[in-house]
Amino acid sequence: MVVVRDISFHSLCEHHLLPFAGVAHVAYIPDEKVVGLSKLARVVDHFARTLQLQERLTVQIARFVDECLRPKGVGVVMEARHTCMSIRGPHKDGARTVTSAVLGVIRDDHRARDEFLRAVGLGNTR
Ligand SMILES: [Zn+2]
Repeated sequence: MVVVRDISFHSLCEHHLLPFAGVAHVAYIPDEKVVGLSKLARVVDHFARTLQLQERLTVQIARFVDECLRPKGVGVVMEARHTCMSIRGPHKDGARTVTSAVLGVIRDDHRARDEFLRAVGLGNTR
């Protein structure tokens, strides 16, 4: 499993036109094709560039990696702080929104999924 952690990104929430920013963790289990790690960061930037919803952004990155590399599995986790959450309603400045998208064996095989979640810091090791 190839895991690139802590790819920083920033985007703009399409509901509120306010920024959200954080880190993305992208993992895949290669089949035949392997990609340069900096390319994964560029994929994140590419999809973050437009007005976005964090959930959709996460899925778009996972699908794109899946289509490009045809890997055995893909997993993407994004953690972000949303300005719209910190300035509207009850103040929750520290709140992070975590979204994930998993495909292939990372979705279907619990051992692969556990390995992925541990690698991105969301496993039961906490
Ligand atoms: Zn928002």
